[in-house]
Amino acid sequence: MRLRNIPGAREEMLVNPYVIQEPETHRGHWRELFGSDRPLHIEIGMGKGQFLTTLAAQNPEISYLGIEKYASVLLRAVEKQEALALPNLRFLRFDAEDLENIFAEGEVDRIYLNFSDPWPKDRHAKRRLTSTRFLERYSHVLAPTGYVAFKTDNRGLFDFSVEQAQEAGWQLSEVTYDLHHSPYAEGNIMTEYEERFSAQGNPICRFAARMPEQTGN
Ligand code: SAM
Repeated sequence: MRLRNIPGAREEMLVNPYVIQEPETHRGHWRELFGSDRPLHIEIGMGKGQFLTTLAAQNPEISYLGIEKYASVLLRAVEKQEALALPNLRFLRFDAEDLENIFAEGEVDRIYLNFSDPWPKDRHAKRRLTSTRFLERYSHVLAPTGYVAFKTDNRGLFDFSVEQAQEAGWQLSEVTYDLHHSPYAEGNIMTEYEERFSAQGNPICRFAARMPEQTGN
């Protein structure tokens, strides 16, 4: 993502009531923070927050956490939430590399990855949010019934992600190479990137990935 540094964004994210500080202290207690026993869905690499604010408004029975690495981007999502004041939506300025430090085993019910950075150079493949390295992290925080939902217009990244999921033994479903003209189009919520790239004529790829079956030993 092209990033324009916004002066004061970092400082604002340290005091804004919708941005959770010291997320490690909430590990294992996210449901208490939201004051409910509702499912917890997260988006990693949320960007400016259109997808998650829309979902949170539509589904008050689900708690949502948006995770974004950069304050200047997160600020835009926070501004949307300031207008909406949704009780079931909060944000973290956090690098998903350290996901297991903030979520306990099985604490997350769904992970959304939308238009994740492609990191095109081979030597950066491990940074892709769908690499086996990240899938391993997700497997530690996802509930057994949970899944990862991934969308991108980048065919190379999508093919890589399918390979990585299969290598890690994850089960893929709802696989489509043209989401907007597929049976899964109904109810699809567009992200900022999705609007931009589909307007340019790019088909959108999508899959859901479930963890390998637990053997119980
Ligand atoms: N999901 C949004 C959309 O579809 O419009 C934004 C897509 S943008 C290409 C990817 C976003 O992921 C950027 O805002 C970037 O800062 C964030 N990101 C990338 N790696 C991340 C990580 N390890 N942890 C948290 N956020 C990350």
